[in-house]
Amino acid sequence: MSLNGAGGMTKPWIGVLSSLTTRLDLHLLTLPSWIGDLSPRWQLRETPAWCPCCLSSWRESGLPLYQPLLWMIRVVTICPHHKTPLIDHCPRCQKPQLVFASSKTQSGECTFCRYWLEKDANAPSDQEVSNEHMAWQDWIWATLKELQAASFTAGILTWELFFRHLASYLKEQKGYSRLAQATGIDRTVLYRWVDPDDTYSPSLETILKFCYVCQVTPLQVMNGQLDPLQLVVQRGTGLRSPLPSRQNQRINRERCQMALQAALESQNEPMTLTQVAQQVVVCRPPTRLSFS
Ligand SMILES: [Zn+2]
Ligand SMILES: [Zn+2]
Repeated sequence: MSLNGAGGMTKPWIGVLSSLTTRLDLHLLTLPSWIGDLSPRWQLRETPAWCPCCLSSWRESGLPLYQPLLWMIRVVTICPHHKTPLIDHCPRCQKPQLVFASSKTQSGECTFCRYWLEKDANAPSDQEVSNEHMAWQDWIWATLKELQAASFTAGILTWELFFRHLASYLKEQKGYSRLAQATGIDRTVLYRWVDPDDTYSPSLETILKFCYVCQVTPLQVMNGQLDPLQLVVQRGTGLRSPLPSRQNQRINRERCQMALQAALESQNEPMTLTQVAQQVVVCRPPTRLSFS
């Protein structure tokens, strides 16, 4: 996963792959082409996630199966094409997937039990995604696309512009308290966002939640288009409601039963109860996101 990101390994790998393939655009397959110079920490998942419907439709159309970078970004939890939750564990053995499969495993197969990870018409259906969550995800796709398009034309985006514009606006408007109240982000944290001497860097998810509530995109803030903030500062409430708090997580019973059955039937070394419980945790349906 480091190769997709912006760590020390990414550039050397791009260099090696570029000389092997003679392609000069491989950097566009890495996270900075989407989120610029924002800290890559915690932005990508630790193990792959995928859309079973995409895998099915690619196979039916004779297209190669691959892992789009969009699926790796933590804040993206729904497939933009099929509007269904991304999956991050095998429906049969319940294991998260390895990034690199062995040569015996084909694309689209579980890297442990070789079960097809595509959409299974007989599988229990996933929990419905709430309208609120779908609206949030719709906005995220559009916003990430906007950032990516800007990167293509203007080069890697610089977040310093985002924080500088926000700082000068808030200094004039004295709007820290109102903005904190509207977005649910602590006022002292907002001070840290805009303090050039503070090394603290908010996550992409927190910035996106801030912008979502204020109905402004990160690119607009980078370009100094802060008009929507005026309304938020005047009213002291968000233009959109803050995303709902994390609700009590319900358990997908069918998946849990499958996970427990898989643990009982496994030929591997017996797992501890804690390990079984950790696998059962992934059986929870997708949850709403909150400011945390
Ligand atoms: Zn899909
Ligand atoms: Zn499996």
